[in-house]
Amino acid sequence: MRRTVYTSDHDAFRETLRAFIESEVVPHYDEWYEKGIVPKDFYLKLGELGVFGIEVPEEYGGAGIESFKYQAVISEELARAGVSFGGSSVHIALCLPYLTSLGTDEQKQRWLPGMATGETMFAIAMTEPGTGSDLAGMKTTAKLSEDGSHYVLNGAKTFITGGVNADRVIVCARTASQKEDDRRFGISLFVVDTTLPGYAVGRKLDKIGLKTSDTAELSFTDVQVPAEDLLGEENKGFSYLGNNLPQERLSIAVGAYAQASAAVRFAQSYTGDRTIFGKSVASFQNTKFELAACKAKVDAMESSVDRGLELHDAGELTAADAASLKLFCTEAASDVIDRCLQLHGGYGYITEYPIARLYADNRVNRIYGGTSEVMRSIIAKDMGL
Ligand SMILES: Cc1cc2nc3c(=O)[nH]c(=O)nc-3n(C[C@H](O)[C@H](O)[C@H](O)COP(=O)(O)OP(=O)(O)OC[C@H]3O[C@@H](n4cnc5c(N)ncnc54)[C@H](O)[C@@H]3O)c2cc1C
Repeated sequence: MRRTVYTSDHDAFRETLRAFIESEVVPHYDEWYEKGIVPKDFYLKLGELGVFGIEVPEEYGGAGIESFKYQAVISEELARAGVSFGGSSVHIALCLPYLTSLGTDEQKQRWLPGMATGETMFAIAMTEPGTGSDLAGMKTTAKLSEDGSHYVLNGAKTFITGGVNADRVIVCARTASQKEDDRRFGISLFVVDTTLPGYAVGRKLDKIGLKTSDTAELSFTDVQVPAEDLLGEENKGFSYLGNNLPQERLSIAVGAYAQASAAVRFAQSYTGDRTIFGKSVASFQNTKFELAACKAKVDAMESSVDRGLELHDAGELTAADAASLKLFCTEAASDVIDRCLQLHGGYGYITEYPIARLYADNRVNRIYGGTSEVMRSIIAKDMGL
């Protein structure tokens, strides 16, 4: 279907990005994949290209474009090429909105220019070993010192995307006890400098997919976080998470759609080239029907993410809308990618083929940013159930 969500500016950006991925990512990707991380200096190249600065306000060194559509173009182009920018996926798509919406001018002056250039890489740490879906149950604490100059941070986080390469991490921590009638009260956000004494990066976790993404455990032992690194107001962290999670979920929905779309392309190309029983796999009616059904699903995903992008840019995407989009796109993408892998036969299971990597990469879309079960709960609640 003809898409109406993008303008000629997006198309020009897409072309530049496609060429960049071809020359700066594809030749190195196998090495990054083996090492399980993208070298940090690569992020300076992304900064130079302007990828990180698109949505950073002009006064802090960016282009000041208030639209999430460029992030969607990035997701689409990475999936198309079967690669990723590693853990930096959260740097702008997840972390920037927290800084722009909650940061003071002084904080933005300190953090945003480095974010735009890639000199200061950001990650966000909500999940803990004991709690993921139930974030109100987090145990990491931040206690204000007697003189009010700093908070003392103690606790641990896990599954933190970009956690090895990060220079600053938005850490969610408890600054007050829960209230009897409000479990969500008492959480605050801190933009923690990863070089502070007591801050430690634990294991880089070995995952079945997203191999180039540095997903890490973090621990904090009496880390003295300067009071000026508190983001937003004390104890209101949970509502800040609630405001920002819809963008994260939209971004995951876009990524899932882009992966499913790429899977169909890979399968169409592979089955056209592969000959069995004296004819191409593409010529079997089953292959045509499978690919046609997958294409119809991809079209449906595309229409919904495009609508989601328009609503989000207009500031109208609700938490329930984002949950619906994430649930639908991630579940549909899993089905499409699985079917496309099947059409590759045994080669679909071999990681040198992009479809195999996509299959593994896509699986986490139904888990992170809130699981499918949590998405169903949000939607059901919105329906008054
Ligand atoms: C590769 C990767 C990257 C990640 N990156 C980050 C990151 O950068 N920052 C960050 O903070 N976190 C990150 N996460 C964590 C991710 O958001 C959590 O894993 C996710 O929210 C689920 O939490 P959990 O793993 O603790 O599962 P649990 O909460 O323990 O869930 C276990 C099971 O219980 C189900 N469940 C939970 N609640 C309910 C319910 N109410 N009703 C029915 N079933 C329920 C879940 O759906 C799931 O099936 C990442 C995770 C992965 C795997």
